[in-house]
Amino acid sequence: MIVIEKQPAVQVRQLSKWFGTFQVLKDISLQVEQGEQIVICGPSGSGKSTLIRCVNQLETHQQGDILVHGREIGPKVARLHELRRDVGMVFQHFNLFPHLTVLRNCTLALTRARGMPRAQAEEIALAMLGRVRISEQACKYPSQLSGGQQQRVAIARALCMNPKVMLFDEPTSALDPEMIKGVLDVMRSLAEDGMTMICVTHEMGFAREVADRIIFMDGGSIIEAAPPAEFFTNPQHERTRSFLQQIL
Ligand code: ADP
Ligand code: MG
Repeated sequence: MIVIEKQPAVQVRQLSKWFGTFQVLKDISLQVEQGEQIVICGPSGSGKSTLIRCVNQLETHQQGDILVHGREIGPKVARLHELRRDVGMVFQHFNLFPHLTVLRNCTLALTRARGMPRAQAEEIALAMLGRVRISEQACKYPSQLSGGQQQRVAIARALCMNPKVMLFDEPTSALDPEMIKGVLDVMRSLAEDGMTMICVTHEMGFAREVADRIIFMDGGSIIEAAPPAEFFTNPQHERTRSFLQQIL
């Protein structure tokens, strides 16, 4: 029998990062398997955004390694732009291009970065807009949509690049309460389809249902990592306990 070992989707090994003299990430090690869903939580300023921004190299690190599907990703790596396309990112504030239609927001990277013919790019974009249940908004501009709809467009735009990993940085934090469910439903369906996901979120209902593991960060370190059942019922560290008391 031939056993083909799956590469981990993401490996972060002994990652440290400084902003000037301030050490924002301290010796972070984290392995995410293909098809795994990870939730990262922790107090504001603990380094959650910086960590996931390092995974797609929106931030550069000074120490340690990051590998995506076994290939190193870092400031000195050749063809970094190609590797970065494997990692989709969704931000708190959507970051859609306001002067472009929903459809063009989704096709831009395909036509510009991938050199795909526009018709083919539009076909992919419409399929992904369908996946987030928003195809009927394709010809509108972002400002004509609700926050929740804009965030679903941002997810569709990331999916158009056929990413190997999706990163979410507090995707529902800027939304009105009634918009949150639609975005979480889309994220849940991506998880069900087996997408590898790293989600920074304080939506603990989502974490409980969807995450394979929850990671708690504080002060630039991973304090605790456990499956939801353990994480919520039997947190090992005082800092995790007091964090959970504050948000639950
Ligand atoms: P979180 O997402 O957990 O709230 P961040 O990763 O955004 O935390 O930030 C971690 C720490 O790094 C904070 O103290 C923040 O002020 C600091 N920080 C973030 N980005 C920068 C930057 N570009 N320059 C200097 N300090 C930064
Ligand atoms: Mg953040």
